[in-house]
Amino acid sequence: MKKLNLALIVAFIALAGVGFAANPTPIVNADDALAMLKGGNSRFTGNLASNEKSPTQARLESINGQNPIAVVVTCADSRTAPEIYFNKNLNRLFVVRTAGNVVDDIGLGSIEYAVKALGVRLVVVVGHQNCGAIKAAIAGGSIPPHINSFVNMIKPAVATARKESGDLLTNSIQANAIRVADKIRHDGSLGANAKEVKVVPAVYSLETGKIHWLGN
Ligand SMILES: [Zn+2]
Repeated sequence: MKKLNLALIVAFIALAGVGFAANPTPIVNADDALAMLKGGNSRFTGNLASNEKSPTQARLESINGQNPIAVVVTCADSRTAPEIYFNKNLNRLFVVRTAGNVVDDIGLGSIEYAVKALGVRLVVVVGHQNCGAIKAAIAGGSIPPHINSFVNMIKPAVATARKESGDLLTNSIQANAIRVADKIRHDGSLGANAKEVKVVPAVYSLETGKIHWLGN
């Protein structure tokens, strides 16, 4: 018992040293956060006025700490912007962006931080229509090494999509979002919080601005 207590104290000191306060009370649970994102996307696609605070008020309130309701893993594509399509202000979304919305250890660590240090309980993985990273994974061929690092991570999703009927690009985009969500769910970084955390894949339509939720 003493050994265990000592281990906990050492772990606490180590975490405190990097400014990491584990497991704060969640600000919003997963279902409520998902409803807030769905409501925000309806406002965006319906061209309705924002019901968020003013950017100035949100900025001033953010000075002393983060207050995100969800993690959004999304493509780096300039045609997509989660704060806009979810109609959310500063300090509402913790965004992890990479080409092809894939996650490596750094991405997983960023998500883990949002869950364990900021109390976030919803992670959404948002692919998008006409994603160039997915097109590159479908096309194959010779690709520069750093670009290939994310293209290679997408290829298994393309292989899954090739077994399905319908449009290969659309199916690959969906399969990739689902696969990345599965990776986040199962790699162990959510730890003891995993049972409270929802990880939801989705696809954003460039054409309509709507988020198509996969499995929700
Ligand atoms: Zn993309």
